[in-house]
Amino acid sequence: MTFTIPRIPGIDFAAPGKQFGYLEIDHSDNEYDAAVIPSPIAVINGGDGPTALLIAGTHGDEFEGQILLQELIRAVDADAVTGRLIVLPALNICAVREGRRVASVDRKNLNRAMPGNADGGPAEQIAAIVAEELISLADYVLDIHSGGTASEYVASSFVYPGPTPELWAAKVAAVEAFNAPYSVAVKPMMKTGSISGAADLAGVPMISTELGGRGTVSVPILRRARAGLRSLLDHWGVLKDEGSRSARAEAVQWVELTGASAVHSTLAGLMEPVAELGQRVRAGELVARVHPVEELDRPAKEFHAPMDGVVAVVRHPTVVNIGTTLVNIAVDHGSTPPKGNDATF
Ligand SMILES: [Zn+2]
Repeated sequence: MTFTIPRIPGIDFAAPGKQFGYLEIDHSDNEYDAAVIPSPIAVINGGDGPTALLIAGTHGDEFEGQILLQELIRAVDADAVTGRLIVLPALNICAVREGRRVASVDRKNLNRAMPGNADGGPAEQIAAIVAEELISLADYVLDIHSGGTASEYVASSFVYPGPTPELWAAKVAAVEAFNAPYSVAVKPMMKTGSISGAADLAGVPMISTELGGRGTVSVPILRRARAGLRSLLDHWGVLKDEGSRSARAEAVQWVELTGASAVHSTLAGLMEPVAELGQRVRAGELVARVHPVEELDRPAKEFHAPMDGVVAVVRHPTVVNIGTTLVNIAVDHGSTPPKGNDATF
């Protein structure tokens, strides 16, 4: 028996062993004149068991996941896998090549492009293959993000509560297995067009991450995420890693981003962070200043925490505009996952 997908030629998803191939994206312009843009994919099939779909490079300037998944592809052989790993380490390949959040070829945010369009631009074609073909093969999905060049997050798992009590329980268990320093829950439930939303619609448990950022890779965060990835795949039953199980017993630190978490600048100028990433702050506490550039007779504007909580995200580039998010304050929930806001759970 074989199982193939037309836009991913040369890969038989039913065959045992390790296979490499490409999602073939049709596009032709001055820069991409070969007419096919290849987004790499690896399938590592060890036989009966669950399928985990692992994604990085949804945003091209988020590098931790791209490195971790390339490393995993090289390190793991099919006989170590129970079930199947489908790994996409550079999903939005055009953005990955540029090291930017979105690609200049279409300026489309792939994490807002689901369910995509098979006849659309590059990101829309990739979204269609993920939403229509790959998520339906998966029992679990992981999409690895970070703060990119624009921001830095506390190293965290990142999940949207819901959409059902069963899916939320599976997500919470996965977050606890990944065992990042922070576990961030975000309301509203999902962003339109996101991979999280596509997985929710398909009823497949999915978690994301936000691992640092600032347009670079942090050695300690990468080390922690490498262990977390192994622990998560062990928890999902795809890849045995018994050594990870003792670390998983540690309590997870849950925080929640709400509609009131973001502190936006009301002045264009230079941002001076005052509170640091991970710092606990009280409502009203000074978290950032913005200095106007040309108006020397005007004082710097001060920005304050909207609530008690943890500084979970800090903007990275110093130049800001009116409306730029300076910091995000997350509500501290301790070791208890936040409740979903849906009436069903
Ligand atoms: Zn991202």
